[in-house]
Formats: sequence, structure tokens, C-alpha cells
Amino acid sequence: MPEAVDPGRITPVMEQFIEIKAANPDSLLFFRMGDFYEMFFDDAEVASRALGITLTKRGKHLGQDIPMCGVPVHAADDYLQRLIMLGHRVAVCEQTEDPAEARKRGSKSVVRRDVVRLVTPGTITEDTLLDARRANFLAAVARAKGGAEGGDDRFALAWVDMSTGVFRVSEVEGDALSSAIARIEPRELLVPDVLFSEDGLRAIWRQSGAAAVPVPRAFFDGATAATRVAAFYGVASLDAYGQFSRLELQAAAAVVGYLDRTQIGQRPPLDPPRREGSGGTMAIDAATRANLELVRTLGGDRRGSLLSAIDRTVTGAGARLLAERLAAPLTDPEEIRRRQDAVALFLGDATLRADIARRLAAVPDMARALSRLVLGRGGPRDLMAVAGGLSAAAGIFGRLVEIADPGAEVAAALASLAAAPHDLGAELVAALDDELPLLKRDGGFVRAGCRADLDESRALRDESRKVIASLQQGYVEKTDIRALKIRHNNVLGYFVEVGPNHAPALLAPPLSALFIHRQTLANAVRFSTFELGELEGRIARAGEQSLAIELEVFDRLLAKVIAAGDAIKRAAAALAVLDVAAALATLADAAGHVRPKVDASLAFRIEGGRHPVVEKVLAEEGQAFVPNDADLGPEQGVGEGGRIWLVTGPNMAGKSTFLRQNALIAVMAQMGAFVPAAFAHIGVVDRLFSRVGAADDLARGRSTFMVEMIETAAILNQAGPRALVILDEIGRGTATFDGLSIAWATIEHLHAVNRARALFATHYHELTALSERLERVMNATVKVREWKGDVVFLHEIVPGAADRSYGIQVAKLAGLPAAVVERARAVLTELEKSGGHAPASLIDDLPLFTAARRRVAPVEAEAVPRLFELLDAINPDDLTPRAALEALYALKAER
Ligand code: ADP
Repeated sequence: MPEAVDPGRITPVMEQFIEIKAANPDSLLFFRMGDFYEMFFDDAEVASRALGITLTKRGKHLGQDIPMCGVPVHAADDYLQRLIMLGHRVAVCEQTEDPAEARKRGSKSVVRRDVVRLVTPGTITEDTLLDARRANFLAAVARAKGGAEGGDDRFALAWVDMSTGVFRVSEVEGDALSSAIARIEPRELLVPDVLFSEDGLRAIWRQSGAAAVPVPRAFFDGATAATRVAAFYGVASLDAYGQFSRLELQAAAAVVGYLDRTQIGQRPPLDPPRREGSGGTMAIDAATRANLELVRTLGGDRRGSLLSAIDRTVTGAGARLLAERLAAPLTDPEEIRRRQDAVALFLGDATLRADIARRLAAVPDMARALSRLVLGRGGPRDLMAVAGGLSAAAGIFGRLVEIADPGAEVAAALASLAAAPHDLGAELVAALDDELPLLKRDGGFVRAGCRADLDESRALRDESRKVIASLQQGYVEKTDIRALKIRHNNVLGYFVEVGPNHAPALLAPPLSALFIHRQTLANAVRFSTFELGELEGRIARAGEQSLAIELEVFDRLLAKVIAAGDAIKRAAAALAVLDVAAALATLADAAGHVRPKVDASLAFRIEGGRHPVVEKVLAEEGQAFVPNDADLGPEQGVGEGGRIWLVTGPNMAGKSTFLRQNALIAVMAQMGAFVPAAFAHIGVVDRLFSRVGAADDLARGRSTFMVEMIETAAILNQAGPRALVILDEIGRGTATFDGLSIAWATIEHLHAVNRARALFATHYHELTALSERLERVMNATVKVREWKGDVVFLHEIVPGAADRSYGIQVAKLAGLPAAVVERARAVLTELEKSGGHAPASLIDDLPLFTAARRRVAPVEAEAVPRLFELLDAINPDDLTPRAALEALYALKAER
């Protein structure tokens, strides 16, 4: 439509756009116009760049072209997903009335539009936007300032997964905030705007990897928090849900407030908030999670992480539960034992395990389908997902119920499966067709035979085809025009069409009484008839009626599903539990894991331990992993506290692998899994620390030594006797003696104050002397064998200290030029003779430099580097006498 040229004029639609945009300044506005969502102005420029779609213009605003781009409604999910992944927020603005309604108000009237939903990373529910195997958390963090008397700041976190209804709250100390966030891994993090850019906290928001959103302080208001959360659930008080601190309620209130604001009138089906005490799980800070590559590698990939190496689940919900358990290993031996019992049950019966896995593989994501249904975003396929889940639940229940002693965990799951609304499942299956449309408004999802009135109006619709055929036959006979056809288009509806040569017959009486002329085209003339008009109306009414009946069926089923929502959710959760147990059993069977003994002692005895990820990688290359033992528990008569193993050995020998495998075994044991070892006895670890010396970290380009020291400080301040500490090459980020001294003092502190169980890998051989002074420090080394001057790694950890570092041999393995290796050996011998100092003799002896110094006058200055180059290329051991002579000539020629 051409716009008027008046540059100051704003069209009514633009006026409407600007108004709605002003109310949603921090979101891209998807502005519905017919079959497209259009974006204008800056939004259009941002979106066209982000999505790679064409930027066009639409009219002018204040004399300037208005940039515009659009995405078709039917493909909007795809584009939404990409925008959300890039960290944008999108306000979806729909037409909320029929254009005909607007026209009734006047020719200039614009269709009413409203934002119906804000799409943000933490509030999505569509399968196309979600990762099936990951939870999607929206979290909020509230703070109580430490008192004037110097108390520490405290924080509360509340987090929800809108797609499954999970709602948790927890209170944490200031220094545990970042590890708590690292565990939850929220997609979106709500922060009171006053804390958003506070020093010290800013880094935490940034490191969280979540989209951090500053929200007004009112969301966190303490005086109204409890009432607001209660109102969300439509209850008078939260007492029935448990006790929450004021701070927890503030965070929870911020979350529900934000949901209200983004979901606009739709209330997601959240479970009541559940409090998570910090005591129940192993504390693992963000750096340790990253170092141990629990859910992703340091490079950010999921492949290569512990999670991906151990995940054998077959459902999305199972994968999410496994990830959750891995992120939060337990500390209560009794609870751990319950989980182990479930794994043991499946491990003991391969047929059962395979059968359950096969049945589970067919289970749709019930929890997420349910969420969409409750939010009014669900379609027929979501109803079917619930039906499919319920019927699989019934099958699995039937298979497991006969087991005499399934253990507490499986028994609880079975109780939830038994309580599932199985009749509703059957009713859904009976009502829904096999092939289902995505949207309910497309109709055609109710199964034939389910409702007589629906069958009737569908028959009418289908009949009409036959009726039209016979009508056409009648007209042909009446007019004697064999080429007469009945056709249909959207403008005329049904019409009769004949060629121009036959038209006069229909235009003249008597036939003109029957055929009403509508349209003349070059090669056809079209007519309508009274009968066709009638039929058309009937068909349209039948279609409308069928759809109305189908929608009624949908709503009835939807109401039943929502009413049974809690039971459905519990059944879905039970299936996830069974999936995890069966998957861990499958893993244990395939990878040769054993059930670890986990108790309240301080033991840490691993026999034949393996690194689950390295072992898998080696196996793929056809190589075997060398198992190793570790024993860090206290020993009778050797003072109080855990032992510290000081592991020395050359680079590439397997020190880091050994350190990490013990940490991973602890994590796996306490999440309830079996572990890659021949035997394991672990007294629960309450905190796990893992640090790697800065040199490995250079790529990150921060002041790495500073980071290393901050992290080491955190360990020395926090680790208690129940902690497990893994320190890999701490201190190497600085000058040798500084580094050695720091490492030395760190071990002394760990030994005397923390008394934690610890593994410390180092290349400072000087540290091995500590074992003579400190009773609980043991030396261990990785065995290597020298063979014809080369080093062969055996990857076997044995008591004792490495006698040498084999750096030169490793350098040789790495392909350093032979001449350099030879020279390095010579220098090393000199250094060893002189006790570490570089003796004057060595400097004088440096053959290249002495040569250069003596001759520097007569030799052309620029020839020197060239000479060095030639010399570097010469390896005397490799030369025949003749080649040596030639080399000499070549050198002389350079002079
Ligand atoms: P370090 O920390 O001593 O430099 P790493 O632990 O990084 O050495 O190990 C180097 C490589 O050696 C690993 O990538 C792995 O391929 C191999 N390796 C380590 N430990 C073992 C083992 N126990 N069995 C077999 N191969 C191992």
C-alpha cells in the first residue's frame, strides 16, 4: 500500500507499533501482520543481521525510511530459537481481533494487537526451542547484606524449569554463590538491578554463562514476597509447602513475578517450591566443575565430558535427571545406597534391563508436553505424548511389579506409576487419531467413531464430493455440454465452467434461469447456480461444525489432563528415575564398573581405578588403560587426617589423568553410580576441589597466576577433613623458586590445618623431601622405562619419587631437532655437576657462542645468524665423513 508523502505523518499501524515497542524496550518485537511477524527500526536491523534475512523498508517515519524485516509465522519457531540462542529476548505481539471487527469500527481502524508472551532463554517451552536432554532453568538471586558487625553477605537462589515444573530454592553463603550457580547452570539469571554491576558480583554473573537480566528491586521486595508466591499458587499461605527463609522467598517471588510478566496471564504449572539444603550435596565450585570437565570440556564441548561418557539414558527426562545427579552428588550414604540398589537391580538382570530400555525409548517427553498444555500452548500431539507416556508407564509397571524386593528407589517409582491416571491414558488413545496435526485449529485429530455428531458432519463434508459429481452429471445432461465442469476457487467458491463457444446457450433462456453469469475469461465463462450455493453453505457449515466438535473434545480432554497433572508429572519423574538406574546399570555392565562402598568414614581406597573418559577414548583407538590404586584415608597411628599423595613423574606420564580419575570416581560414587575400578571404598566427600596450575590455562589470557593463587586460597580456606583436594602442578605459573615455595607451603598447610585427603602432582622434585618430615605425605611416581635413551611411559603409579624428570627424552619424543636435544643433554650434565647453578665454564663452553664471539670482528655481522642456521641443521651423529666435509665447506663459504 503506497504511503502518503507527508513526512511528518505516522500511519496508525506505526503508531501502534511504536506504542507497543515503548512498553517492551528490551525485547525484539515480533509484530504480527497477517502471515508474518514483522520487525521494524532497530529491531529489524538487529534481527536481519542475526538471522541473515533481507532487510527491506516500509514507508517513512519522520522523513526516514523505516527498516523492516519479517519471518513467516509458520517458520517462526526456528527464527525464535536462533534469536534466543544469541541471547535476545523476543516479545510476540499478536492480532487479538478479527480484521473484520476492526473494519466495523471504521475504515481507518487498525486491528488490535497485544503482546501475548515474552520469549526469553529461561521461559521457553517448545520442543523445537529446548534441548531435550537438558533442563532449562530460570534462576533469581537475592542478597542479604552482612550486618554492620561484619557478618558475611548471604544469598538465596530460586530456580524453576518452566518446561517441567521443577521449582527449588536454596540459601548459600557468599563464597558458595558461584558454585551454586555453576551447579544449577541456569539459562537465564535474574539479578536485582542494584547488584547487577556491583564489583565482585559482576564476574559471577558473567561466568555463569546464563543470560543475566537486571530486574527492578520491587520484584525482590521482602515484605510482600510470601504473599506473592502464595498468590501464584492460589493458596492463602505457603506453610503446607515447607519452611522458607525470608531471603529464599524474595528470590522465589522474583521468579514468579518474572513469569507473570513474561507469560502474560498464563500460569505455568510449577511444582510447589522445594527447599534444597546445602548439606545434602557435595560442594563443587565452578573451577572444579570446569577442570574435571563434568558436563562439558574446557573447550566447551559436551563430547569428551564425564556426562557424555557415562550417559546411556534413552529418554530426554532421564538424561536431564542424570545430568542433575551428576551436578549434585549426595553426601548421605543411606540415600546413595538407595540409588545403588536400583542400579544393582538392573545390573543383575540383563533381559529386564533391555526390556525396560526398549519400552522407555518409546516414552515421549510427558513433563514438557504437560507444561505446554497447561500454558495453553499445547496441541493434539501433546495430548498424545501424555497418552503415549501413560501407556508405556503401565507396561513398565506391569514388567517391574512382580519383582519381589525392588529396593526403596524402584519401589517409590513403582508407586508413582501405579498412581498414574491410566484410564485417562486409554481415553486419550481412544479419542485421538493416529496421524495428528501440530495445531488444534487445523482439526482432523479426533478419531472416527469417537463422536457420532462429528462423524455425521464429516460424512457430510466427504459426501459433498459425491454430491458435486452427480450435480455435474445432471448439468451436463440438462445442457448437453459434455465439457461442462464444476470447479472451486477461493473467490467464487463452487462454480460451473464452460468454454466460450458454449456460453451463449447458458446465457439465453431457458438455461439462463438456472445459470447465473459470474465471470468471463478469455477461454472460459463461469456461472453459479442456486443448488451450488446451497451446497457450498452446507459444506462450510459442516467443516465449521466438525472443527467446533473437535475443539470441544480437545478442551474436555485437556481439562482432564490438567486435573491429573500432578499424577502425570510423578509418573514422568518415576520413568526418569528408572531410565537413570537402567542406564547406569548398562554402563556398569559394558564398562566393567563396580559398586563402591560409600560410608561415613574418611576412607578413600581405590583399587584398579580408571579414568572413565580417557579409558573410553583409548578403547576407541584400540589401546588399554592402565588401572591404578589410590589410598588417601587416614592410617592407624599416622596422626589424624587424610593422606596426601605427592605424585612426581615426567610430563605425559599420566599424572593428571590419575588425579582426575580419583575425583571422578568420587563424583560417580556419590551420585549413586557404579565406578570404574576393581574396588572402591569412599568415606563421603563433602567438598571437592580440583585446580590445575596456570601454565595449562594460558589460552584464557587472564592473569593466570593470580587466578591460580585465588583458587588455591579458596581451597586452603575452605577444605575440611572430609574434602578431597586435587592439585595439579600448582605454583608453576611463576618463577621456579617462588613456585616451589608456594607449593611447599601449600602442602604443609593442607597437612597441618585442612587435614584433607589430597593428591598433589608436581614437577618440583624438591617437594618429595617433605614426606620425611610430614607423616601423612606419601611419595608416588609414575613408572617409566628407559629404552635406548628413549622414555617409555608405563602409566603405572608406584610408591616413591621420580628420580628424574626425563624432560629431555620427552622433548625428543616431541620432535625437537636432534642437535638441540644433544646440546640440552650436555648442558644438563654440566648443571647437575654444578648443583643447579650455571657455572662460568658452561657459558664459556657454549661452543656456538664462543665461536661467534671470537670471530665476530672478521665475520660480516649479518652472516652470523645464517651460520647458526646452518649449524642447527647439522647433526654430527647423522653425518657420513663425506657429508661432514661438505658441511664444513658450506660453513666456510658463508664467511
Ligand atoms: P601428565 O599429567 O603426567 O603430563 P597426562 O595425565 O596428561 O600426563 O597423560 C598423558 C597421556 O597419557 C594421556 O592423554 C593418556 O593418553 C595417557 N595416559 C595417562 N594415564 C594413562 C593410563 N593410566 N593408562 C593408559 N594411558 C594413560
